[in-house]
Amino acid sequence: MNTRRGDHLAAPAGSDSETEKTMPLPKRKHSKCRRDKRRTHDALSAPNLIPCPNCAEKILPHRMCPHCGYYKGRVIKEVEEKKA
Ligand SMILES: [Zn+2]
Repeated sequence: MNTRRGDHLAAPAGSDSETEKTMPLPKRKHSKCRRDKRRTHDALSAPNLIPCPNCAEKILPHRMCPHCGYYKGRVIKEVEEKKA
């Protein structure tokens, strides 16, 4: 019947059993403005892909190419060719 708001104020001081019944709850609904302002940082950006100088596949810069195993003009790791 009663709303939970203010129940903690009615509980007698020093009574642990009374305080266990009420859990902390937000006092107000957050506004759409506040929700949307929080989400201004949520957008994901596409990774910056560059063409591999050896095999021209799209790769991440400053990483070994996962397609041919090259980095800085030499083979770092042998990559097995996938047989289709
Ligand atoms: Zn490559």
